[in-house]
Amino acid sequence: MTQLSTRNLFGMKIDAVRMPEAVARLQQWIARPDGHCRYVVTPNVDHTVVFQQDAGLRAAYADADLVLADGFPVVLAARLLGRTLPERVAGSDLVPALFDVATPERPLRVFLLGAAPGVGDRAANNIHQRWKSAQVVATYSPPLGFEHDADENAKIMKLIAAANADVLVVGLGAPKQELWVHRFHRELAVPVALCVGATIDFLAGEKARAPRWMQRSGLEWLHRCWTDPRRLVRRYARDAMIFPQLVWREWRATT
Ligand code: UDP
Repeated sequence: MTQLSTRNLFGMKIDAVRMPEAVARLQQWIARPDGHCRYVVTPNVDHTVVFQQDAGLRAAYADADLVLADGFPVVLAARLLGRTLPERVAGSDLVPALFDVATPERPLRVFLLGAAPGVGDRAANNIHQRWKSAQVVATYSPPLGFEHDADENAKIMKLIAAANADVLVVGLGAPKQELWVHRFHRELAVPVALCVGATIDFLAGEKARAPRWMQRSGLEWLHRCWTDPRRLVRRYARDAMIFPQLVWREWRATT
């Protein structure tokens, strides 16, 4: 497999890929499983900020097999710093793009892990209606605090092993999903895990994604803030303070 080129940004090594290359890479891993789980992380502004303080998230990123620029501001900062990334590859776009390439000859077996109870099943219904060759073989919504419960983690490992899925879609929010997948990736019996935040909610129609024009003009964060202000306003306010400082620091360090 050819080595992808990467860009060093804010301490992260982001893969310089477009969506079709990212999907092709996942397909290769799924087609030739070798008993080891490869996982994907998708940095946005919030991850970038948390990454500076959280050694666990840094370790999870260091071992990730694919690091995709999810946030438009990350792509923009990369361009300003002369480390251009070819395009934004959001986790919420990656999952449908992977479903798009499933065929009746090679259907994709999917495990949806995370989101509130019932949301995974609603997502599965929508997926089956839209993609004939994507089969949701299992869903599971872990209870609050599951990550601290050894029995619960063992149960999830067993569910994953029994499902014999090609891909594990992990929607537990950041940085929990990255820390959890990193902690267990050597035990996960699935060739690929995708840490993709609210994607299961989007697939279920539980949360609406921003309109295309907002996504394309880098305003998806504004839409999310608008639709979930209680949870996101404080986080985005902090990120809006810190992220420009990180860009400035990085710019100073390279000039
Ligand atoms: N979530 C979950 N279990 C948890 C924490 C969060 O299933 O212990 C789910 C939550 O229901 C939602 C998703 O994780 O579906 C949060 O995704 P989002 O991208 O909004 O979180 P962020 O990464 O922005 O924190």
